[in-house]
This record gives sequence, structure tokens and C-alpha cells, in this order.
Amino acid sequence: MLAALAETGNPSSVHALGRRARAAVEAARAAVAARIGAVPGGIVFTSGGTEANNLALRGLGGPVLVSAVEHDSVREAADALEIIPVDRDGVVDLAWLERRLATAPAVLVSVMAANNETGVIQPVAEAARIARAAGVPVHCDAVQAAGRIPVDMAAWGVDMMTVSAHKLGGPVGAGALAVRHGIAPVPLLRGGRQESGLRAGTENVAAIAGFAAAASAAAPDDGRIAALRDGLEARLRAAVPDIEIHGARAARLPNTSCVGMAGVPAETQVIALDLAGVAVSAGAACASGKVRTSPVLAAMGMAPEAAGSAIRISLGWNTTAADVERCVAAWVALWARTRGPRAAAGAA
Ligand code: PLP
Repeated sequence: MLAALAETGNPSSVHALGRRARAAVEAARAAVAARIGAVPGGIVFTSGGTEANNLALRGLGGPVLVSAVEHDSVREAADALEIIPVDRDGVVDLAWLERRLATAPAVLVSVMAANNETGVIQPVAEAARIARAAGVPVHCDAVQAAGRIPVDMAAWGVDMMTVSAHKLGGPVGAGALAVRHGIAPVPLLRGGRQESGLRAGTENVAAIAGFAAAASAAAPDDGRIAALRDGLEARLRAAVPDIEIHGARAARLPNTSCVGMAGVPAETQVIALDLAGVAVSAGAACASGKVRTSPVLAAMGMAPEAAGSAIRISLGWNTTAADVERCVAAWVALWARTRGPRAAAGAA
């Protein structure tokens, strides 16, 4: 990124500086494509995952079938939305999808690779097989999965795939929509021919270079993060018998844990952990900092009270055993504090 910032070239310029910037962008396209099994020529750089999801879904008309646990940037981008339900573990109902596509047309199916709140991994390849059999193209939001588990757009049979740099260790403000040849999303920005005419505006070369470096470095977890997360959950379960770990029966990302402390609002848990130097989110981390009932947990059949006491713990490539220790200690201490007075009142 520093090397790219030191250059002043615009990738669309024909002079030497411009050609160097163009080379950096094209190298980045290849690096990002390699991470997700896409074709370099199909990579459209955007400002992030939100924009890529909007590029994939907006302006298509409908119906667009999206899973009930998609990120807001998918659910709110579709013009005419129909929800594919999920089961109690948060996994999309493929039988519903098959029945739905057998009875009525659709313009797109969108199923995420892994959920941002629970880490639950979706059967994307199976969903794509069903959709393609019905002649319907498929979009996959792989923002949470890329760089954590193997992601392969070609092998999964997906037509468009979203990725975001900051979820795999790159800078905030860069992302991409990978588009299969022959698929034509509707541009959100006009007024330039950049990015194959799909995203007008001079490319953010430094952020794109950072995205590429992160995409190359972010190999899927080799078991270290999964072991830390499983250890964290085992310790929490041992200390708190009635703990709920949402989505734990399904296949999940190695780094995510969505845990509930019955009767204690998520915000209280977030504050207690923050005081101990541990940064976690309450359900969906909202841009405004406000917390609302998670549509993801609601779609999994959870009552608002239970959903409101769930926090999301995410481990990163640099999370250590000591970090996990601190998190467990602070959470269990809060649990003991909140149970203490009640237990005492019960005894009295
Ligand atoms: N999709 C998912 C699953 C996400 O978790 C996020 C962000 O958290 C996004 C899309 C949006 O990505 P960005 O923050 O790059 O706009």
C-alpha cells in the first residue's frame, strides 16, 4: 500500500506512471481472483462488500430469492425480495428452494457462504446446483468466508461473488464483486469505463493493492483458530451450564462464536468485556452503534429475549490463548455477578 501511495499514476492514463498503476491493479485482480476461484477479468473492484452486494442485486427486478440470514446489504439491495427460510441451526432450506423454483420464476438466488453473526456455513454449491437446474443465476456473499475457509466460485457453480478486504486483513474501503463471463450486473456508478464499465471512477489503487496483499496472505485456518475457538466454547460451557451457543450444531467458520447469557442484555455483556479489554459485538454490529434484534437469530426461531442476550465473539489471525483467557474470565465473572443476587434472593 505504501508503494502504491508513493505513486501518483491514474490506472487509466497511458503514460508510464499510469501504466505502473494499471499494472498494480491488474496484479491485484489476479491475487483476489486466485483466493476465491474466480477469473481475474471478472473481478470488479468496489468500495467494499456493501457496494459489491448492491452491484450484484440492484436493478434486476424480481423476484430475487435471498436467504433469511443474509447481511442487510443483500436483503435491502434486492428490489423484489423473497426469503429462503433457514432451519433452527441457521442453514438454508434447500428443499424449500427447490420447491419454490419448480413453481415460479426468479431472476437471482443469493446465498451467503458463511454468516456474520453465527459463522454458520451454507451449502452454497448445493443451492447453486438447484438454481442452475432451474436456469436461475446465483450470487454468493463470501465476505465472512474468504480467507478463513476455502472459497471456490468456479467449483461452487456461482455466477457472482462478493468479497471485502477488511474481513481478511486488508484495509477498510475495498472490496470486489467477481462476475462470471456472460453475467451482466447493472452498474451503480456511471460516468466512466473503469472496471469493465461496471464501476465508474478512478480506482483506489493503494486500497486495492492492500486488498491483494491480504488476499494472498490470508490462507484458510490451519486449525489454530478453530482450536482456540473450540477451547473458548468448552471453557464457557464448563463454567455456565445453561449457556447457548447459536448455530453450534451446524458447520461453522473456525473463528466465530455466537453465545447467549440468559437474562443479561447483550449490551451489558459488550460493556463488561470492553472494560476487560475485549472487543465483541452485540448480535449484528450496526453502523449507528445501536443494537436491534438480530434478524439472523430471529430467522433461526429465537425469541427476541434470547436473541437480545447473544453476543458475537470473533477471533482473528492474531488472537492468542491469553486473549481467549481474558474473554472467558470476564464473561464468566459477569455471569457470576448476575446470578449471585438472584441466587441469594431465591435462597431468601
Ligand atoms: N456481507 C457480510 C456477510 C458482512 O459481514 C459484511 C460486513 O460486516 C458485509 C457484507 C459488508 O461489507 P463491507 O463492510 O465491506 O461493506
